[in-house]
This record gives sequence, structure tokens and C-alpha cells, in this order.
Amino acid sequence: MIDHDPSSERAPLRGDSSGARSGGRTHAWDIECDVLVVGLGAAGGSAAIEARRGGAEVVVIDRFAGGGATGRSAGIIYFGGGTELQLAAGYVDTPQNMFDYLRQEVGDAVPEATLRAFCETSVANFEWLRQLGVPFPVSGKVSKSAYPESDCTLYFSGNELCHPYRDSATPAPRGHRPLGVGLTGHLSAEAMRLGMLEAGALLRPYSRLERLVVASDGAVIGGVVCELKAPRWLVDVMATLVRNAGGISPRLGGVLQATLRAIERSCKRHHVRARRGVILCTGGFVFDRKLMLEHAPAYADCSMRLGTAGDDGSGIAIGQAAGGVLGKMDRCTAWRFIDPPEAWWGGILVGRSGARICNETLYGGKVGEHMIEEHGGKGTLIVDASTMARGRRQVMSGNPPQCINAYLA
Ligand SMILES: Cc1cc2nc3c(=O)[nH]c(=O)nc-3n(C[C@H](O)[C@H](O)[C@H](O)COP(=O)(O)OP(=O)(O)OC[C@H]3O[C@@H](n4cnc5c(N)ncnc54)[C@H](O)[C@@H]3O)c2cc1C
Repeated sequence: MIDHDPSSERAPLRGDSSGARSGGRTHAWDIECDVLVVGLGAAGGSAAIEARRGGAEVVVIDRFAGGGATGRSAGIIYFGGGTELQLAAGYVDTPQNMFDYLRQEVGDAVPEATLRAFCETSVANFEWLRQLGVPFPVSGKVSKSAYPESDCTLYFSGNELCHPYRDSATPAPRGHRPLGVGLTGHLSAEAMRLGMLEAGALLRPYSRLERLVVASDGAVIGGVVCELKAPRWLVDVMATLVRNAGGISPRLGGVLQATLRAIERSCKRHHVRARRGVILCTGGFVFDRKLMLEHAPAYADCSMRLGTAGDDGSGIAIGQAAGGVLGKMDRCTAWRFIDPPEAWWGGILVGRSGARICNETLYGGKVGEHMIEEHGGKGTLIVDASTMARGRRQVMSGNPPQCINAYLA
């Protein structure tokens, strides 16, 4: 499904060292660099820092101020294989042990070599992020929960303690959470933004990639970037509306998104030459209903979409229009957390047929996957009166994340 239709608004322009061609004329390059990074979330930030440290001249653009879903996220990053936090908490973990666990989790979604490299470089990657200034002090406690308390920096974020995962890998906590109150993804996003600037990359916010520029042999040599002329505050307000209202109502989100795009038409076009490559880090597509219906229909009608207005699949479509091949577009994550309160793990989760859906103590992303893939996205948790009352008491008392002994018993 490669879209080479030259009339498509995302179809690449042809170009060479003198500029990009469109409408019968050549537009000289306005900006030149070695590497153009598109999108400033975790992927773009780390790509920019490493490209810059490798000696490349780097320009980073973002449709908004930057941060993306990374900046809004809960901030949990899956590290293991023997990080300082794991060792300090008394857990022995190795890259092989981490691999054995993740192999079960990811199935065929990640090639074996990639997964192995992910596990083998995990300790170094953790230290890389710490060196950027993301606060990961040694945790005073280790919990198992949907999301840990503010003073907790290490916890069992996945299914490590659950059957059958614990049977083929020694359970180890790997959810590493930047220290802070509430959702702390913004700490990593900001550290990467600052790290990228400190490394010497040039940031151009409110600049949207419209299409790529390719040479006659198909190599990507640049991009067409639209820099916003309309007031930035207006775009920020619209993007917030898309994210919040569009998170709940796809129809309203679509209308708001069309308005946002209309405002963004007031922009100045730049032709950016990238001598050594363009890296597309533009996030996902959960805010584009058409793409969701096409690639992941079972997830299209989830009650709430999470992400940002930037998750409209534009970068994916731009890459595809230049000959990129898509993969794993059907892999989504849908969250159905049963806890807190932890007491509700004592219930039984059944689908419409009455069959049990899964082990109730599984990670909410796994519970969601079972519900959607096998039970049409519907489930009911059945609890008896005493379990219900215990759950209520836990909620009233602030429901501290529960002790992992519950699993180990
Ligand atoms: C509420 C929430 C909680 C989450 N919690 C966790 C968690 O705890 N742990 C975890 O691992 N994951 C979590 N996730 C998922 C995680 O945040 C994302 O998978 C991750 O941040 C994606 O990073 P990214 O760099 O690929 O994209 P993003 O961080 O979304 O960055 C993409 C950037 O590209 C920009 N962009 C888009 N299109 C264009 C364009 N055409 N031109 C220029 N720029 C463009 C966007 O403005 C955006 O800034 C959470 C997500 C959400 C929404």
C-alpha cells in the first residue's frame, strides 16, 4: 500500500542539491543540515541528542512546542538487566532474564535481535537518561500497582509476578519512574529537550512537516516544513481541545482537528535540506479515526483515546507516501485497570459469554488486550459483598499500592 500519487498533498517532491522542485520551479533550500528530526518526544529527543553527539548538524522541528505524548505520559520506562535501582532493592536481574520475560510479553511484535539489544543495552540506556538529569533516586520501596506512589521510583509495572510469566523468568521490578508528584513523563521530555539544545541541535517549534523531498534515486534528501504564522496560543488551545474533547468523542475531535488544520494553514513554507537523513518521530495515529478503522478497528471505539493532537498519523502517511512500508499498525494498547483497589483482584472478570477473561492481577494493558482481542471489548467484574466493602475501604484510605507478597504467596 504505497501511495505514490503525485497529486496527494503528502506525496514527496523531487529535488537535488540545488533545491526542491514543485509547480515547474525549483525552490532553493532555505535551511540546510545533516539530519532533520521531525517530532520532539522521547524518540525525536534521543535521536537528536545522539545524532548531534555523533557530530551531525541537527535541526529538530515539532508541530507544536514539543514534548508530545511523552510529556503527558505517566513517565514509566521499562529498564532492567541489573540497574542500580534494582540492585539497591535487592533484586537480581540480568539481560537474559529480562529477555525471557519480555519474549512472552511482546510475542512476534519485536524481532528477536531487537529485543535482545533492548535488554542488553538497558542498564546503559537508564544511565543515559539519568545523565540528562531525569531524577531516578533509589526507591525506598517496591510495589506492584497500576501506578505507584509519588515517592516510589521502582515497581512491578508489568506481569512479572503473574502466572504464567513468572514461570519462565525470575520476577524483577522494571518500571522505573522519575521521582515527582503525579504523572512524571514531563520530566523526561523536558530533560531531552534541554539535552538536545545543550548538545547543539537547533529547535524550530510550531513547524509541521508537510512532505519529504526525494532525489531521483528515491533517497530522502529533505522536507517541506510549514512554520506557523497564526498565533501560537490559538493553536495550543485548539490542540488541547482536540486532545481532551477528542479523547472522549471522536466525532467532536474530528471537527476540532479540522479547525486546527485550518488555523495551521496560516504558515510560512521552508524547504529543508537534510544531507544525511530525515528521522520521522511523529508519534501515533489514535486521533485519526479513519486510520484506526483501517488498521486497528477493534480498538477504534475504546471509550477514551490517549495522546496528543499530533497523533494523527501525519508522519506515518508522509513516510509511506515516499515509499516507506508500514508494519505492526494493528498493535495498539488498551488499558483496563482493575486495581486500585487491590481488593478487586479477588473478583472474577468475565466476558459476555460468561467465560473468565484472564487472571485479574495482570497488568491493565494485558487485561485490555484480552478483553478487546477475545471478548469484543466488554467485560464485567464480579465481586462478592465483602470484597466490594474491602475495596471501598481501601479507596477511602487512599489505597496504597499493595505489597508484592500478595503475588508471591
Ligand atoms: C496519558 C499517557 C500515559 C502514558 N504512560 C506511559 C508510561 O508510563 N510508560 C510508557 O512507556 N508509555 C506511556 N505512554 C505512551 C508513551 O507516552 C508514548 O508511546 C511515547 O511517548 C511516544 O513517544 P514518541 O516520541 O514516539 O511520540 P511523541 O512523544 O508523541 O512525540 C511526537 C511528536 O511529533 C510531533 N509531530 C506530529 N506530527 C508532526 C508533523 N507532521 N510535523 C512535525 N511534528 C509532528 C508531535 O507534536 C509530538 O510532539 C503514555 C501515553 C499517554 C498518552
